[in-house]
Amino acid sequence: MDIANKSETRSRMHEDRQDSTVIFYITDNGRALAQKLRGRYPRARIEKFGADSLPALWNECTTLIFIMAAGIVVRTIAPLIKDKKLDPAVVVIDERGKFSISLLSGHIGGANERARQIAEFLGGEAVITTASDINHLPSIDLWAQENALAIEDWTLVPHIGTRFINNGALRVYSELDLTLPDQFLRVADPPFADIVITNKRDVYRTSLPPSEPRCPAHACRVKGQLYLRPKNLVLGIGCNSGTSAQEIEETVKNILHGHNLSLLSIERLATIDLKSKEPGLIDFAKKYGYEIVIFAPDDLNKVNGIAPSETVFKATGAYAVAEPAALLAAGADTLLISKQKAGNVTIAVAELINHKDKEKWEGKESERQESSASPIHPCTDSPDHHEKIYIVGTGPGSIEHITPYAQDAIRKSDVIVGYGTYLDLIQELIKDKEVVSTGMTQEVDRCKAAVELAESGKTVAVISGGDPGIYAMAGLVFELLKSRPQSAITCQLSVEVIPGISALNACASRLGAPLMHDFASISLSDRLTPWDVIERRLEAAAMADFVIALYNPKSRGRVEHINRAHEIIMKYRKPETPVGIVKGAMRENEAVVITDLEHMLDHDIDMQTTVIIGNSKTSTWNNLMITPRGYEQKGKY
Ligand code: SAH
Repeated sequence: MDIANKSETRSRMHEDRQDSTVIFYITDNGRALAQKLRGRYPRARIEKFGADSLPALWNECTTLIFIMAAGIVVRTIAPLIKDKKLDPAVVVIDERGKFSISLLSGHIGGANERARQIAEFLGGEAVITTASDINHLPSIDLWAQENALAIEDWTLVPHIGTRFINNGALRVYSELDLTLPDQFLRVADPPFADIVITNKRDVYRTSLPPSEPRCPAHACRVKGQLYLRPKNLVLGIGCNSGTSAQEIEETVKNILHGHNLSLLSIERLATIDLKSKEPGLIDFAKKYGYEIVIFAPDDLNKVNGIAPSETVFKATGAYAVAEPAALLAAGADTLLISKQKAGNVTIAVAELINHKDKEKWEGKESERQESSASPIHPCTDSPDHHEKIYIVGTGPGSIEHITPYAQDAIRKSDVIVGYGTYLDLIQELIKDKEVVSTGMTQEVDRCKAAVELAESGKTVAVISGGDPGIYAMAGLVFELLKSRPQSAITCQLSVEVIPGISALNACASRLGAPLMHDFASISLSDRLTPWDVIERRLEAAAMADFVIALYNPKSRGRVEHINRAHEIIMKYRKPETPVGIVKGAMRENEAVVITDLEHMLDHDIDMQTTVIIGNSKTSTWNNLMITPRGYEQKGKY
């Protein structure tokens, strides 16, 4: 086995350039500082600044350090700047070494890292302006590079980066068993992911005709999903003598696209020694920076389970080329795409067993792997399998008010964890499922059971009525996971929260439009919240003229709370303020009452009820509550 073309085929990115640093100075102080910096970068070249030598060095070097005013540097390098994937790292230092400014190629180019090193060495300060660094978030492009993932569309990176900074987290769907930074939330399904890590051209399909657009609107719900491509495809390739690079390229593209695979995921090509000097093949490999792995016929003939061809044997000495070459070079037992012949080219594709195995295979287990070893271990060997918990909101009560997505998650789950009443309401959906149900006050036990079940390899749906993130289970699952010591974590659990229609949406819809303006929702249950806190919130919301939605208004053990709440709100609102009382919204026993603040306690209020109290502008009409948004004052109708 031999690896050809290795160094010369990879000359496109920073990582492939010889690590070379040039330090430019203008003044004597600058030169002295440059010499001092040699203590940190012994192989750096020192040059008197002159615009003439710069263009050549720009393309050759990985780092350019300028000891001079930033303005001079900006003006000089402006015409040379091309692309963050190609431009060198540019660091500017004042001649006293007080500030090291990362000016260009901060992430992929490494300027931020260099500026920090220099500041540390000189006892100065690094000036870094990239938002992710400032916010202590990992840089997406750097993370992708460190994990050997190719970025499919660079124009999306700033957009995803902004979302990352604004939200403090990104949702990631990965078909690889990668260790993700804390701020990357692993999601179980791709439609809601900001980042999709897959070698599939379109993660929503199994095969894809080349002409069809990717990511149809119905499938992908996130605008501008960023695809990161693992380098894990190996192409076994055979071709007739004299086949052009163009024909090889076209065939590879057509076959991969037809099988819904991304070209960017190609890690290497593999062929027989006879083809090691085939010009078309070499040119194609060079164009994309692929290495070519060469096998002798004897090696190829040792691979079991391949259909032999006498014709191929006569021509090459091997009974087959593309299929055994792909399997050998991938270290795999099965093919992803069996032999496909088009024109003069034959291709077979195998997947590297594990993306990370690539380095082992090349005999250079990297330091990176050791340093990023995760305390979280996957429970199964399958890279596709991640333990899943769906925290599902089932809405106010009836099946048709559960979102299709939530229904789908329930269908996909092996075990349903929930509380009796809510489960009764969705009987239809869960009749064939294993169900774990405990009483109302045993939420913690339920959550623990859900996590344990998921860790044992099951897909679990934790069911909450209404929305799972409103007085329900979502927070509890996360708190539980957050509180566990690292040593207790045995799985890479992925948790997905699936929203549901909350009682306030359901009840408001029955009442008309009471929540058209700012509102506060307050639970009157003091089971987990001290009563004085609840009173303070009632007081504040009433005073600030919020519409108020009261959850958990009354139970058998807490009959007084609603009276006290009423008393507080009465201090700030007129007795005739409209009040809506909805019991069992969207359930068989639904009852809707519109009354006013003065009379609200005359009506039946229980734990299946939500009470909505209008603000000073809320009115009634045709037995409906309407809180104005303000269109009328603006003369809009
Ligand atoms: N997660 C749920 C709230 C759970 S707290 C949600 O988002 O709706 C339980 C309280 O919600 C009940 O005491 C009641 O105040 C309210 N509630 C839940 N379902 C309701 C329904 N169908 N009609 C009226 N109120 C409801």
